Amino acid sequence: MMQKSDDSQIKRDFRLRQSRQLLAVAVALLGIVILALVHKRHDLFGEFPKSTIFGLQLVVIAVFAGFASVNWRCPSCKKYLGHDINRSICKKCGARLQ
Ligand SMILES: [Zn+2]
Repeated sequence: MMQKSDDSQIKRDFRLRQSRQLLAVAVALLGIVILALVHKRHDLFGEFPKSTIFGLQLVVIAVFAGFASVNWRCPSCKKYLGHDINRSICKKCGARLQ
């Protein structure tokens, strides 16, 4: 009985983490694309030094990595889940995630 409610709790928590992760990936990619666009179209956005654009892209990546390292963890054992966004079983503790 206890095990069953734990399972659905883990799956719910995982789904939440997964949607947050997908959103973060989308936002990070969008940020990088927009920055690349700003760099390419200086007729539209004005002149930004390449180092500024590159620096901002690094910031976007760093913020994303920081967020992922907190968010993208197994709801059961709290270990990092790795690169597979559709992971169905935690490699570390074997919890069913979806
Ligand atoms: Zn786990």
